[in-house]
Amino acid sequence: MKKRNLTTKLIHTPYPVKDPHGSLNYPVYDNVAFEADTAEELEAAFKGEKNRHIYSRITNPTVAYFESKIRHATDAYSVTALSSGMAAISNLVMALGKAGDNIITTRHLFGNTLSLFEKTLQPYELLARFTDLTNPQKVIDQIDNRTVAIFFETITNPQLEVANIEILSEIAREHNLVLVADTTLTPPSVFNAQEMGVDFEVLSSTKYISGGGTSVGGLILDYGTFDWSSFAKTRQLFDEHGSSAFNILLRKQIFRNMGACLSPHNAYMQSLGLDTLDLRTERSTSNALEIANWLESHSAVQKVHYPGLKSSPFYEITIKQFGEKPCSLLTFDLGSKEMCYTFMNRLKLARRSTNLQDNKTLIIHPYSTIFAEYPADQIAAMGIRDAMMRLSVGIEDIEDLIEDFDQALK
Ligand code: PLP
Repeated sequence: MKKRNLTTKLIHTPYPVKDPHGSLNYPVYDNVAFEADTAEELEAAFKGEKNRHIYSRITNPTVAYFESKIRHATDAYSVTALSSGMAAISNLVMALGKAGDNIITTRHLFGNTLSLFEKTLQPYELLARFTDLTNPQKVIDQIDNRTVAIFFETITNPQLEVANIEILSEIAREHNLVLVADTTLTPPSVFNAQEMGVDFEVLSSTKYISGGGTSVGGLILDYGTFDWSSFAKTRQLFDEHGSSAFNILLRKQIFRNMGACLSPHNAYMQSLGLDTLDLRTERSTSNALEIANWLESHSAVQKVHYPGLKSSPFYEITIKQFGEKPCSLLTFDLGSKEMCYTFMNRLKLARRSTNLQDNKTLIIHPYSTIFAEYPADQIAAMGIRDAMMRLSVGIEDIEDLIEDFDQALK
């Protein structure tokens, strides 16, 4: 991976204007509307002739500064911050497609994303075609003249499956499709999406970026790599606005009107979180690798899934795409649901909770919680087992975590 000097860039992202008090953290403009000096200036702002803030659902200085930090650090062409990871995914997908279009994806996805595709978007005839994204031919077989995008998670939650991103990118280029990656499990401190040919990155900033369970948020990163001149939904906008056609479509026709904006306070928390993103990913992914190895060697554990383990079918592609410590999420199987529950209830440090990439280690039984709304055969098709737990490893001291698991497994 090309070195980005991510942390230095994040910490030293310049302010748009000098702060009158010399504040070292960008202030929170917890405010709704911004006045103009003259009626003409207000008109120019509404017409987009003057670049200034008008109303915080559309843009806000604290949110814009948060977006600019990510742009500065990743060289993205444009960044949009939203109220949640799900808002980022739904806004982007709705901007890309229209009734009758389809998006190629997999059933191996975060449960709510799958539900978005199956239950929310289907009645509007924006259709998902589910296939195995680790099999290039199966992906190609799904493409038709109404396919607009391929959507995948870099490491799927919770199956921990890894597709070959360069191959997906080649397929997308060849068929003029937009390649969208949900990089929540591998944020920019772990993975350089642009280098791998991804057009759009969506991620839940609720996770690592929030600083550790502080606030809900989401991000869309547009690398400016897709040619919008011949894309059905942007053809007309392209004639008027050139390469910013999609950004205008996203911001003015979807994001503004759906209203899923990030609050200034959350943008402030997440700006702070960005400063320590790399430190926290480094620590928690190191812990995860060590725990995965420890669990794998434990006689009470039937199976451990972690893409950074040599036993993983995705080990080689994982190392190539994300390095030796790819993520802080792993799953492992005991003999039954009852054994999982006994183990979970004995834990003293790890918390029984949903969410991931918190500073605290979190454990959940996905089958009976996140995926409980699905019938058994569908849960099985999603790769979720009754005897499986999902562990999100935090930044505690590793010896304390191992001691906690050891006493609970005895
Ligand atoms: N994508 C992935 C991979 C996730 O794990 C999650 C949440 O856990 C989301 C998206 C949704 O994020 P949010 O909860 O911020 O809406």
